[in-house]
Amino acid sequence: MQYSEIMVRYGELSTKGKNRRSFIDRLAHNVRNSLHQFPNLVVKAHRDRMHLQLHGEDSEAVMSSLKKVFGIQNFSPSIKVEREIEAVKESALAIVKEQFHEGMTFKINTRRSDHDFEFDTNEINDMLGGCILKNLPGISVKMKNPDLILRVEVRKNGIFLSSQTIDGAGGMPVGTAGKGMMMLSGGIDSPVAAYLAMKRGVEIEMVHFFSPPYTSEQALKKAKELTAKLTPYGGHIKFIEVPFTEIQETVKHDVPSGYLMTVQRRFMLRIAALLAKRREGLAIFNGESLGQVASQTLESMVAINDVTTLPVLRPVVSMDKNEIIKIAQQIDTFDLSIKPFEDCCTIFAPPSPKTKPRLDKAREYEARLDIDELIERAMAGIKISEIKNGEIFLNQQEDNFAELL
Ligand code: ATP
Ligand code: MG
Repeated sequence: MQYSEIMVRYGELSTKGKNRRSFIDRLAHNVRNSLHQFPNLVVKAHRDRMHLQLHGEDSEAVMSSLKKVFGIQNFSPSIKVEREIEAVKESALAIVKEQFHEGMTFKINTRRSDHDFEFDTNEINDMLGGCILKNLPGISVKMKNPDLILRVEVRKNGIFLSSQTIDGAGGMPVGTAGKGMMMLSGGIDSPVAAYLAMKRGVEIEMVHFFSPPYTSEQALKKAKELTAKLTPYGGHIKFIEVPFTEIQETVKHDVPSGYLMTVQRRFMLRIAALLAKRREGLAIFNGESLGQVASQTLESMVAINDVTTLPVLRPVVSMDKNEIIKIAQQIDTFDLSIKPFEDCCTIFAPPSPKTKPRLDKAREYEARLDIDELIERAMAGIKISEIKNGEIFLNQQEDNFAELL
């Protein structure tokens, strides 16, 4: 079937009252970004529907990309027909014929946004239904749960027919819930947390700490590739890399080994909070799951969370590892995440971190360090790149952070 457009129905955003227009505009922007590999596609965002005019683009490929964009309830590939009832009958019959089987049931569901058309919805339903009943012996009309619903939309620019409704990704359009800084490691959990944050409409910027020469270029590349895997859900994502070597070496040298991890994490969180402040982020997200490892006890969260008053949100906090892995496989980050490149945290991991660190001790040990200067130097070495859908990652367009401010 040669489709002329994909008709998109909005998700939860339809309940958002006067914010509706900005939600729709944002969704249209995200759809354009996520589908930028289809140059002929034209996106028209109206109040109750969005129309993706294909102009020759492959409908299957477009739909498989569209399936990932948050804020869409469902969509239907549609055929455009002249505003002429005989032509509509012919196409309607062709569509039903293509899916016809013995004993099949159907109904016609007509909507009119153009009330000037010569027939009303009941008349159209009757005429099309009659034509199909006459031409396909054995088929019958059923109002409740028929095998096939043929949707007909009468619009000023033509009449649109569709028989399939495909589930969208649900959620909210990315960017409608504000911005958050996502602490992205190379592991399994944080990409899943990022995906879940995006699902609720949060625009995320990745913050990744790396420690050359202890961590390799490949580990950095892996974090960027993980970011690229998440771009189909909402569009471009900023990737902020923070050099962490000096902080880790200093902490290792000056802090008792049981508190290495806690103090390192306090530095990470401080930097993420500082980035949030400068880049208008409203929250910090991470991939912590309660009880998974030593750093992920409630005591540890208390000792680390102390450095900021921003909300630190943990979308996978209550999930079992298996549940997290299932999502990682679904969003295709799992195979990348399990590649064995050393992360900065594994390399400086103490042999026996305290599972119940004390906040007063963490503060006391940290006070031995020149916190502000260490953070200032790390911030001076930050690089930001933009990762777009369909690209492995962008290495060249890196800007110096200082220049961007
Ligand atoms: P993940 O699978 O996401 O790596 P994990 O189970 O390995 O998580 P940790 O290594 O304790 O757990 O990390 C907890 C969280 O801290 C991560 O989910 C991530 O949000 C953040 N984090 C850890 N390492 C880094 C890093 N190098 N850069 C940015 N954030 C990090
Ligand atoms: Mg990890």
